[in-house]
Amino acid sequence: MADLERSAAKEKFLNFLEQKNLRITNQRRAIVETVFSTDQHFTAEQLLEWSRKRDSSVSRATVYRTLPLLTESGLVHEMDFGKDYKIYDPNYADHPNHNHIICDDCDKIVEFESERLETLENEISQNLGFTVKSQQLRINASCEDMKKLGACNKKGH
Ligand SMILES: [Zn+2]
Ligand SMILES: [Zn+2]
Repeated sequence: MADLERSAAKEKFLNFLEQKNLRITNQRRAIVETVFSTDQHFTAEQLLEWSRKRDSSVSRATVYRTLPLLTESGLVHEMDFGKDYKIYDPNYADHPNHNHIICDDCDKIVEFESERLETLENEISQNLGFTVKSQQLRINASCEDMKKLGACNKKGH
């Protein structure tokens, strides 16, 4: 994703915090910088680990308090892949209609977009008298490693 779009999303989020009269502390800034400099999907624990690389003072509590603000702003989506933790996605601001395929064993996630899918979903919705507002398809699967080797190279978190 273009750096320009990234920094626009970051500015939007900082404005969002300001409107809520929330202080932009150093910890919070480190978290925000981290979120808007990656296009990787992440868990709360991963975000904590990455943010601490920028600023070792970032606390778990601040990460867990900042995540709901990120999702409330609409710039980050919380996704439930049926795991016992949530996965966060920073890519919806720029790609509102993207889909995911996830390996059930190692949590490898690949994004994809498909015009054929969108056409099909519009067609189905129209036939049922609905209008599509947003669409996301999630495919749970086994990644190539799992298929070939019977185990995933990069296991979990
Ligand atoms: Zn995504
Ligand atoms: Zn896998």
